[in-house]
Amino acid sequence: ELDPQALHDLAPRLVVIPGSRKGDLPGLAPHLCAASAEGLDLLEEARRLNDLAVGRESDPFAFVPGDFRFRSRAALKIQDGCDNRCSYCRVCLARGKAVSLDPSEIINRARIIVVSGIPEIVLTGVNLSQYSSGGLRFPGLLQLLCKETDSVAFRISSYEPDKIDEAFLAAFANPRVRPHLHLPVQSGSDTILGAMGRSYRRNHVIAAVAGARAAKGDPFIGVDIISGFPGETDDDFSATIDLLKQIDPAWIHAFVFSPRPGTKAFSMKPRIPERVAVARSQTLAVLAEAGKQRFAARRIGTVLEAVAEGPVPANDNFPASKMLTAVSADFLRLAVRGVPPGAGTSFRCLVTGPSFDSINDLISDYSCDTL
Ligand code: SF4
Repeated sequence: ELDPQALHDLAPRLVVIPGSRKGDLPGLAPHLCAASAEGLDLLEEARRLNDLAVGRESDPFAFVPGDFRFRSRAALKIQDGCDNRCSYCRVCLARGKAVSLDPSEIINRARIIVVSGIPEIVLTGVNLSQYSSGGLRFPGLLQLLCKETDSVAFRISSYEPDKIDEAFLAAFANPRVRPHLHLPVQSGSDTILGAMGRSYRRNHVIAAVAGARAAKGDPFIGVDIISGFPGETDDDFSATIDLLKQIDPAWIHAFVFSPRPGTKAFSMKPRIPERVAVARSQTLAVLAEAGKQRFAARRIGTVLEAVAEGPVPANDNFPASKMLTAVSADFLRLAVRGVPPGAGTSFRCLVTGPSFDSINDLISDYSCDTL
């Protein structure tokens, strides 16, 4: 988005369409089909269409995701851009100020997804906690969606820890909202959070997780952590580990800090040696795996709601004809034995035991329950 030329330079036959114009993609395909039928050069034609679009105002919500869905869920973009300026972030520079889709249009799009039979909608945006339209904030929108649609479940893609307030938790507690919360925590050190320009501190994270558990029992809680941010000392990293032990997330997405041109953090000092940042990231990966296993183990012997995805690729453990993958309401990837429901079907299954299969990323082995 910010440096298309760098991508261009990677290969001579690339046409770079920025994320802000991905709404053009569905229209591009029929144009290229027609161009192919006329014997035109497809690369030249794609470039010509792309050049025509440069500078044109784009609608960040033009991309209607119904045709580009996962088998088990559809993504519905309701928000774009961000008014924060975290010191490491290029997304806010690329996407600009926060904008929100009108609630009536969101309801229309959600109803179209419901009619297509998809059982789950993932609400997405650059920063969902900045959703705002005519005085309606994200918690109110979520309540409205539950009221104005039937049966479909909603999953929240990510939410800022300090915005998890009573209104959010009341909406999150709705049984139609999946027990899954992703928090972009980034660090457990208040010093580093300050340097990152984050708007919360570790006590907000602890309160957010406690609130989510009070609202939903034992939801899947995932967190993002950046290791090796400029100035991160051993004590800062220990504070992150300490926070993770306190909140016990079901998953940690660990990233090594990467300086992005144009951001404040690009020139921040002292830089952390790569081997130190990578070693910290590896420590986080070990914690992530242990947290995932603890979370999955707490499900053994329980009945879960899940949505079927498709057959498991054949391997020594799982004959393809008898297994399929599914995603549980609480975001576990499942290997399902028994009567296989069709892809995109909701069903209930009994957790029979863990099956940590790193090849297929299957973290639990469930057998179908016919209830
Ligand atoms: S809140 Fe997220 S999108 Fe916004 S500036 Fe910070 S990191 Fe970037």
